[in-house]
Amino acid sequence: MKLSNIRNFCIIAHIDHGKSTLADRMLEITQTLNKHQMKRAQMLDTMDIEQERGITIKLQPVRMEHVYKDESYVFNLIDTPGHVDFSYEVSRSLAACEGAILVVDASQGIEAQTLANTYMALEHDLEIIPVLNKIDLPAADPERVGKEISNLLGCDPDSILKISAKNGTNVDQLLDQIVELIPEPKPSPTDETKALIFDSVYDPYKGVVVYVRNMEGAVKKRDKLTLLNTQNTFEALEVGYFKPGYVPTDELKEGEVGYIVTGFKSVGEARVGDTVWQSKSNKESNNIAPLPGYKKAKPFVFASVFCSEGSDYPLLRTALDKLSLNDSAVTFEPEQSSALGNGFRCGFLGLLHLDIVQERLEREFDLDLVITAPSVSYKVMMTSGEYLDISNPSGLPDLSQVEHIEEPWVKTEILVPAEYIGAIMKLCQEKRGVHLNMQYLNEDRVMIVHEMPLASIVVDFYDDLKTVTSGYASLSYEFLEFRAGDLVRLDMLIAGDTVDALSLMTHRSEAYYTGSKLCKRLKKSIPRAQFEIAVQAGIGARIIARESIPALRKDVTAKLYGGDRTRKDKLLKKQKAGKKRMKKVGKVTIPQEAFLAILQKDGDN
Ligand code: GDP
Ligand code: MG
Repeated sequence: MKLSNIRNFCIIAHIDHGKSTLADRMLEITQTLNKHQMKRAQMLDTMDIEQERGITIKLQPVRMEHVYKDESYVFNLIDTPGHVDFSYEVSRSLAACEGAILVVDASQGIEAQTLANTYMALEHDLEIIPVLNKIDLPAADPERVGKEISNLLGCDPDSILKISAKNGTNVDQLLDQIVELIPEPKPSPTDETKALIFDSVYDPYKGVVVYVRNMEGAVKKRDKLTLLNTQNTFEALEVGYFKPGYVPTDELKEGEVGYIVTGFKSVGEARVGDTVWQSKSNKESNNIAPLPGYKKAKPFVFASVFCSEGSDYPLLRTALDKLSLNDSAVTFEPEQSSALGNGFRCGFLGLLHLDIVQERLEREFDLDLVITAPSVSYKVMMTSGEYLDISNPSGLPDLSQVEHIEEPWVKTEILVPAEYIGAIMKLCQEKRGVHLNMQYLNEDRVMIVHEMPLASIVVDFYDDLKTVTSGYASLSYEFLEFRAGDLVRLDMLIAGDTVDALSLMTHRSEAYYTGSKLCKRLKKSIPRAQFEIAVQAGIGARIIARESIPALRKDVTAKLYGGDRTRKDKLLKKQKAGKKRMKKVGKVTIPQEAFLAILQKDGDN
């Protein structure tokens, strides 16, 4: 295939605007799959979870053929996940393409992810073909939404294709536009091969398979290859392209998209963003510049994972080991809790990633899990000038050695109908947000930009956003930097003892509120004892909130019939004295349920 007959593109859209459905229609119209093979919708969402939830988590490339003016063209489509948690993967798949189809739901309009993905596509210099989707819906307003798009991209609103991915209306025209508008791949300047890994998956039969775009040169079966960022070497055990299943070939040519079977055992050895390289002229690999943009996906959200059955712990370890073979972004280290037993402190890319990992662990490994409320990671600068990464509050060093603590900040973009501006501003301010600017997309829709601590988003933000805007807001965010803040560790004390599993990091301004909320919740979930139990929240030695669980009052006077009042009083007095003693010596056993009530995500129970 000549370079001039190859088109590599992706589809970008806000969630639910019809990306996967459009991909289905393209597969059908190009006869890549026949009706019989298209037995279900959203063909490219291959994981069970994706099918059930109707969301795309892993991107899935596919090769199609399209005839235009009697010439045959190869299309490589990369369907991308739309969620912020996976924006690094989106950015790598964009880097593998020359063009992007921007799908906007004509009944909804531009949403937060539409913008985030469009900016990313523009950053990668992609040719963007906008389309208005769902024009079959009575609520579609292509005129209004077309204007929003033309404001965004500076294109002529009349030139935007109006399609229905569901019915296939005008999708054939879109295929022609792909040939006409998206540039062909550039030829290589040297005799070297450089291929960008835009995904790395673990296949139970093949081992680690990397999905690549040949940016320069070709890859043949049996070639000896090097990964430029890690300097790992391997032999191409098999090469091929996607249809969308694996189809082996002898050679993956210049400009093409396909896969290489590497022989690695874990995706961590061949990461997304790395460059597959070889040279015909015996060059040393360590002097060669890799393709730009490589970074290791870094977890920002942490939670502890325990089994409800303590004896399942070894299973959980095996499950995490196996899971990390095909998800290199998840991290884990052992953790011990006096209440919940042995578990792991795990790191995730974001809340959706956490959710997916939990579901995969429970589904694929048949585990019943207890997952604590998510929190972010902190950087602690010591007085010695050294930095520590803290993902678990119990790991915070003695404060006398701490210079300051930093937390991750993100830039948020919220899109809402204008009537909600006030509500959004108030919410973001409550969450320690710093307002940056505001921009009207049209008369009644605005984009509101803030800087916010990631910790504020991790706790309840999506729910709050939904509540204050009746579900009309969409949110995207990107990581900015770690910033120093007045951060403290809040400890929970039960009957005077600190319970380490309950400690958490918080901003000083929120410590009082959080502390009293937790005290109230604990009070509800700890059963009463023969003595009074103090439930306290403290920062260092200072107690900032307190509740007490009153003692059970055993009716010691029940056996008394008649008699005079003084006998009764005497017994009660004795009981009181006894309790005082018990309070001092009494050990409170905290039931596991009490921990769960506190530790679990809000709204989970
Ligand atoms: P994605 O999240 O962008 O991949 O969106 P999907 O392709 O999963 O589509 C989301 C929902 O919109 C599904 O229920 C589709 O059936 C529906 N949908 C997609 N395209 C159209 C369309 O052109 N017309 C109508 N009426 N529904 C559509
Ligand atoms: Mg999808």
